[in-house]
Amino acid sequence: MLEAKYIRNLVKTEGFDLCGITACRHLAKNEEAFGRWLAMGYDSSLGYMRNYLDKRFDVAALVEGARTVVVCAAPYDGDIAPKEVDVVPQYPKIASYACRRDYHKVIRKRLLAVLKQLQARYPQVQGRVFVDSAPLIEKQLAVDAGLGWIGRQSLLVTPRYGSYVMLGELVLTEEVDVYDSPLQTVGCGECRRCIEACPTGAIVDDMVIDTARCISCHTIETAPDDRVDLHGWVFGCDECQRYCPYNRSAKRSEQCIMPREFSPQDISNDEWLMMSEDDFQQRFGHTPLKRAGLKKIQSNIKR
Ligand code: SF4
Ligand code: SF4
Repeated sequence: MLEAKYIRNLVKTEGFDLCGITACRHLAKNEEAFGRWLAMGYDSSLGYMRNYLDKRFDVAALVEGARTVVVCAAPYDGDIAPKEVDVVPQYPKIASYACRRDYHKVIRKRLLAVLKQLQARYPQVQGRVFVDSAPLIEKQLAVDAGLGWIGRQSLLVTPRYGSYVMLGELVLTEEVDVYDSPLQTVGCGECRRCIEACPTGAIVDDMVIDTARCISCHTIETAPDDRVDLHGWVFGCDECQRYCPYNRSAKRSEQCIMPREFSPQDISNDEWLMMSEDDFQQRFGHTPLKRAGLKKIQSNIKR
């Protein structure tokens, strides 16, 4: 059996501000809700959401012998889409998380370092690292591990850092001595600001997103659809997070592992449209913007 306190210390040393530990279990309620979401067709053109339905809701089905999930979160400063952007149309709007190094690599590297140190003390433990890389219901695992709750905008909200957090998970084949419990006394309450702020009405119910209307999906993943107004966003969309009271009062991370590298207001729409592929790769090849690519970003600007 592993010592939870030891794992927490390792995680903190590797730069994560939040860590919770939960036992693997079948997430039956999530499975039912996901089935209803698919039945409504809210996955729209994101066909991959229908893959691995037999593994998605049970970590032990995904990783043989899995007993424990260590959920880690790294906050980032999400206040880089200030109101001025709305009245300066010659600059594009870019989701805050994309204005920094790609979190997948940063978080993965740190979780692998945690696993290595853990195996030095417990040679019998096997582990796998996930950063948005498998059909893992990471937000529910984070809730089970006591990191926060799922807000009406369908993102994890943490009491201290709001929703501007990146998640990564370390799945282990051993049990720990003490597991965390979900938080009991916090939540969205009567607040509906994210629903009211969404410019396209994509939050069709509490924790239910219609991806056919979601700007974030349209700017990154789906084929161009002129029926969706992008409201100036060219990569991602932070609208449903900007007005969340928990983000407004969020604390800064003391050990931010993904500092912002540029502001959307550094590069005008005209500069984006004139940018060459080489220039894009050199300047943004290490950021999440690479996922959409220059051509998609340019076509979003022209919309
Ligand atoms: S990301 Fe944007 S479009 Fe999608 S739900 Fe949030 S506010 Fe709406
Ligand atoms: S804006 Fe309000 S309803 Fe939406 S996630 Fe934040 S607290 Fe919850």
